[in-house]
Amino acid sequence: MNLKIGVIKGDGIGPEIVTEAMKVLDKTAAVYGHTIQYEQLLLGGASIDVHGVPLTEDTIARAKACDAVLMGSIGGDAKTSPWYKLEPDKRPEAGLLKIRKALNLFANLRPAVLYEELKGACPLKEEITEGGFDMMIMRELTGGLYFGERKTVEEGGVRTAYDSLTYNENEIRRIAKRAFDIAMKRRRKVTSVDKANVLDSSRLWRSVVEEVAKDYPDVTVENMLVDNCAMQLVKDPKQFDVILTENMFGDILSDEASMVTGSIGMLASASLNETKFGLYEPSGGSAPDIAGKGIANPIATILSAAMMLRFSFDLDAEADAIEKAVADVLKEGWRTIDIMSAGKKQVGTSEMGDLISARI
Ligand code: NAD
Repeated sequence: MNLKIGVIKGDGIGPEIVTEAMKVLDKTAAVYGHTIQYEQLLLGGASIDVHGVPLTEDTIARAKACDAVLMGSIGGDAKTSPWYKLEPDKRPEAGLLKIRKALNLFANLRPAVLYEELKGACPLKEEITEGGFDMMIMRELTGGLYFGERKTVEEGGVRTAYDSLTYNENEIRRIAKRAFDIAMKRRRKVTSVDKANVLDSSRLWRSVVEEVAKDYPDVTVENMLVDNCAMQLVKDPKQFDVILTENMFGDILSDEASMVTGSIGMLASASLNETKFGLYEPSGGSAPDIAGKGIANPIATILSAAMMLRFSFDLDAEADAIEKAVADVLKEGWRTIDIMSAGKKQVGTSEMGDLISARI
């Protein structure tokens, strides 16, 4: 297969961690007989430095012409970087919001995996984390409360603020289908999270999810109220496979789930649209405090590249090989500084990439 992959190296540690993910992708392609054509794209601070804006129309067009985009992270230190002296809509993060919108990326996927070897970093009790856990949070990204009408008015001398939470059935159906498709590639369980005991938008959410579920008889579906889900994530995280939820609930629950896994350097993510196209990136930021030191953990970006192979190219065996290589390297005791613990072997960004590549 020929894979046309857009690459946004980005700012801070972005170029260092993306280079390692490309190293692992190249090795995987060589082993499994694929060819990769990379298209380098500028976004964020790197684009401001060249074009004066964080994203150009030409970059959007070139990203759209790729099968998928792999991204590092963008942004700098808000206190010291000249990028933050620009108007808000010219700053690095504005480019990220714009490209997500331009590519219609409505589904955000955040895996939360606790590796047995890293469970020391997990704040939960050992009896809860025994054996690790592996869940995928699918959050709706372009609707709901964050995109509804809002206003603040004075009513009878009292300041009053309104935010509206709107979903239509089409928006719910398209993300529900993606969640069920992804569950079919995993342990075939979807937990749909809502607040259907109070909100109309949640009652519609629940009924559309139940309609979609009829087309996936092999997937078990359960409904869970968001307050209960927040508790269950720390009480019994092993029960979850795919968690499907709307924008604001997903914002909060995905951060909670990532916190219980420990290190930010391990957390992959993907944003998908209606086609096979996706933007794949680590959950963390550009970490300006460690940029250029060769110590950043590249694993989140490498695991994001594995997600790209699985979800944009349906190359499941190749994605499995990368995930297994990461697990093997951790089992053998290799660690970057952020996940280092006593008795383990510390390596830098590029050595970690080499170790993982060598095990594909
Ligand atoms: P951050 O995630 O960059 O850093 C938080 C802490 O985690 C830092 O101590 C950092 O060293 C550490 N860290 C992050 N990734 C790591 C890795 N791979 N290996 C080892 N340690 C790692 O968050 P921040 O400091 O709040 O933000 C820095 C910049 O990143 C800001 O400009 C912010 O806007 C931007 N940001 C970008 C994205 C994105 O590109 N999607 C996401 C979040 C933040």
